Amino acid sequence: MEKSLIDPAFENITENLKVIRERVSKAALASGRGEDEVRLMAVTKTIEPARINYAISQGVDLIGENRVQEFQSKIDELDMTNCKAHLIGHLQSNKAKKIVGAVDVIQSVDTVSIAKEIAKHAVNSGITQKVLLEVNIGCEWSKFGFDISEVPERAAEIAGISGIRVKGLMCVAPICDDNKKLFDIFENMHKLYIDICNKKIDNIDMEILSMGMSGDYETAILAGANLVRVGSAIFGPRIYSDKH
Ligand SMILES: *Cc1c(COP(=O)(O)O)cnc(C)c1O
Repeated sequence: MEKSLIDPAFENITENLKVIRERVSKAALASGRGEDEVRLMAVTKTIEPARINYAISQGVDLIGENRVQEFQSKIDELDMTNCKAHLIGHLQSNKAKKIVGAVDVIQSVDTVSIAKEIAKHAVNSGITQKVLLEVNIGCEWSKFGFDISEVPERAAEIAGISGIRVKGLMCVAPICDDNKKLFDIFENMHKLYIDICNKKIDNIDMEILSMGMSGDYETAILAGANLVRVGSAIFGPRIYSDKH
């Protein structure tokens, strides 16, 4: 047998992406949408730049990082010509300055005060920062996010701050074997998304509903997600080191 020239770790990425794209397309069609109406984000936390660049060479055009410092330590090594980045992890106010303008969307706005902090730096840099509001869908271990009931009011409040633009909602679902329960949670998020959409609040464009990860992205799409955040199903299990 001839030995492949590609590092086996890279070969897996190609195969994984193929399978995931097929499943995403299928779920999108099953939910009554076109197969290109759901965006696939590759979640790259703990993944080294060489493997991220390989995924980008295989057509990944959106990556998600959780931590500002890790993002900063890798960004110069990434080929971002045809790829955008989002922040998807909790943002501390003392890191806001570093991330504003460095990512296309900050998905993890979870308080009005962090929204104000982001907006302040955006105004100072003369830009408008796109953000999503993180919703806490009521699982014990998820510390972050607005309660579902307060989201419309907070969305309107944040939309009134200049320098920031609300583009949608994101949530992290509980780990759950019960697919029906999970679907109901995602469906509730979709309802909330549509509700806010219908309110037609100035300065809010409901364009992104970010939910679903490696274990549940198909369920999320069936319930209406249009952006799924997939990490380990693309890159394999994450290995955490002290560095990150
Ligand atoms: C790590 C992470 C993901 C991806 O998780 P996988 O289960 O590896 O797909 C998605 N969203 C957020 C916010 C994450 O932190």
